[in-house]
Amino acid sequence: MITIDLAGKTGLVFGVANQKSLAWAIARRLHEAGADLAFAYQGERLKERVEGLAKELPRPSPLFQCDVTRDEDVASVCSQVGAKFGKIDYLVHSIAFARKEDLEGDFLATSREGFRTALDISAYSLIGIAREAAPLMEKAGGSIVTLTYMASQRVVPSYNVMGTAKAALEHSVRQLAYELGPRRIRVNAISAGPVSTLSARGISGFLDMLHVSRDKAPLGRNIEPGEVGDAALFLLSHLGSGVTGEILYVDAGYSIMGT
Ligand code: NAP
Repeated sequence: MITIDLAGKTGLVFGVANQKSLAWAIARRLHEAGADLAFAYQGERLKERVEGLAKELPRPSPLFQCDVTRDEDVASVCSQVGAKFGKIDYLVHSIAFARKEDLEGDFLATSREGFRTALDISAYSLIGIAREAAPLMEKAGGSIVTLTYMASQRVVPSYNVMGTAKAALEHSVRQLAYELGPRRIRVNAISAGPVSTLSARGISGFLDMLHVSRDKAPLGRNIEPGEVGDAALFLLSHLGSGVTGEILYVDAGYSIMGT
């Protein structure tokens, strides 16, 4: 019989903003399966909300402040989690940001600064976090999951520079999987269909994305956040032990459609 018992495992989760965050759906599944968790939140603005959510979990889950644009924050959160738990088994990277003006209008108008910001926060951060966390993961072997979207491969109007960032993120997944494989660390991404979250609602035309995806997807509906949580549980746990460098679509099948 196959069971998922993650007791004794530790997960570090980046990207919980509120109860609708995909990171929260993943965290809940990991916690239900027995893993202990630590949360990294961007700044004071979010602290109280993330604290409130973490308190809903039956076992205590410490919180650490970390703005991923600051190398010192990334190093500090990993070393604090290392000091508390001795290791990291699972890393969840569920972070993205682009300036509002870069998520509407013409991609051609993307400024150098807007490009830099989007790629720094949404793609580079995975590399920085993986570098700091790897020494804490390699002893027992570990697994990293990030979140992407199919606009990495196709044109989705208004998604603009975030599509470029997701393409960079997906390539980083493959490159990191290659380099971290010998250290027994797997790296994968979930390409999720649209879900109404804080960040998603900042994309001009997001409601259209939701409607088109529901109407065209083979399953005839949009996905639920818990389905991203289930897929992450598979990729992070021993059930996904043979999978690395993969982009797993959890999108009700939308991405297979031509017309
Ligand atoms: P979300 O709840 O708004 O989560 C995004 C998180 O990124 C927030 O916690 C946000 O914190 C954090 N973040 C932004 N800048 C940061 C920084 N400098 N340092 C640390 N954290 C930072 O939205 P979500 O939809 O769950 O997004 C999670 C991931 O899923 C993203 O990579 C997104 O692209 C991806 N995704 C989402 C969908 C969707 O339709 N929702 C579909 C496919 C993929 P603040 O709130 O403080 O900025």
